[in-house]
Amino acid sequence: MGESSLGGASLPSGPDAKKRRVTYFYEPSIGDYYYGQGHPMKPHRIRMSHNLIIHYYLHRRMEINRPFPAGPADIRRFHSPDYVDFLASVTPETLHDHTHARNLKRFNVGEDCPVFDGLFPFCQASAGGSIGAAVKLNRHDADIAINWAGGLHHAKKSEASGFCYVNDIVLGILELLKVHRRVLYVDIDVHHGDGVEEAFFTTDRVMTVSFHKFGDFFPGTGHLKDIGAERGKYYALNVPLNDGIDDDSFRGLFRPIIQKVMEVYQPDAVVLQCGADSLAGDRLGCFNLSVKGHADCLHFLRSFNVPLMVLGGGGYTIRNVARCWCYETAVAVGVEPDNKLPYNEYYEYFGPDYTLHVEPSNMDNLNAAKDLEKIRNMLLEQLSRLPHAPSVPFQTTPPITHVPEQAEEKLDQRPKQRIWNGGDYESDDEDEKPRRRNLNSDGYPTPKSETRDIADGIKEEPMTDAYPPS
Ligand SMILES: [Zn+2]
Repeated sequence: MGESSLGGASLPSGPDAKKRRVTYFYEPSIGDYYYGQGHPMKPHRIRMSHNLIIHYYLHRRMEINRPFPAGPADIRRFHSPDYVDFLASVTPETLHDHTHARNLKRFNVGEDCPVFDGLFPFCQASAGGSIGAAVKLNRHDADIAINWAGGLHHAKKSEASGFCYVNDIVLGILELLKVHRRVLYVDIDVHHGDGVEEAFFTTDRVMTVSFHKFGDFFPGTGHLKDIGAERGKYYALNVPLNDGIDDDSFRGLFRPIIQKVMEVYQPDAVVLQCGADSLAGDRLGCFNLSVKGHADCLHFLRSFNVPLMVLGGGGYTIRNVARCWCYETAVAVGVEPDNKLPYNEYYEYFGPDYTLHVEPSNMDNLNAAKDLEKIRNMLLEQLSRLPHAPSVPFQTTPPITHVPEQAEEKLDQRPKQRIWNGGDYESDDEDEKPRRRNLNSDGYPTPKSETRDIADGIKEEPMTDAYPPS
């Protein structure tokens, strides 16, 4: 098959090249949401990822969906009614009204998690994508379901945290639990997946495994010895890491731990949070992974051929986030994209090299081999204590989110870590400047964007039968 028909991507050979049915969720307006000037979280990175995906013709190898916005009732399946009412009604204009003002503190909204225009529709699109992805997997309509606007793992039942308001992951997992007995959650964001862990801390129907920087770092949780409680004891795994972890060190933990988890827990579905702030050179992160090293986690989980939901998350050097999520989309559909980037709407972001892959930096890896070995052995030991594939009464409502009152108080009394110091960053201002011609003077993308045209065009593509024979 010629290069042109493959759109700059070739099929790898070997067992991993096996075909998977991939479905992908994308809301064309997602890149228009704007957290505010200087804020590191930029929904625009999702549009940049999508644009690369289109220009590599990866959309021809998967089904494309526009998510239904999650309704307030869907969101209340995890979040408290008061909190959902607040998110649905607060606007930058009504922010300081009497009723809203006193809720800002109560729901931790204002600093890391600002009120911006369209906050609730943004949450609805993110959550709608993850719930939609779960529905596709539940119906066996796809083997892999992707939602790069999801993965907002810090949101709590009644509290925003770390740029996250609605926990699309918890909502997606609750949907999966309607059909699947056991769900494995794996989190490779540089930050601990605290919101998801907390939601499922006392159940064995969800096992959570988080790899993250630990020690004087947001959100401060995720100690090696935090392992779950009650029925959920041993069903939470935490892999605390130090600055500068590289591909080889990461893989040397990820593969054996996940191999053992898959053997022992035998999940019916897997959710992978692909936070890209664990990449080298991230504006808030401190790891040193290459795009290939990051994507190796997806590669490995894909090889088990268990229904797989793939979500976004953090990621603050946005050119690298786009590279990473585009490459991971290629891994999901089973092709190896050309390293030379195709021309795309955001081409100037990717200079001077204009390549898909970037070299990790020469920063020190502060993870000593003997410490990593100790962590690996402790976790493998913890896993060996688990009964094989716990059988769960299938009809029970998943016992979620009931953190005992006292535990809740203790959490509240902890000094709050901030994910971001609120300052402007000296470097990386290229991410900040409105460089695209369809950004208005405030830096807001104008509602009608070029990408939307492309996304509209996608629907006309014959997609479902476009997978070439391997
Ligand atoms: Zn993060």
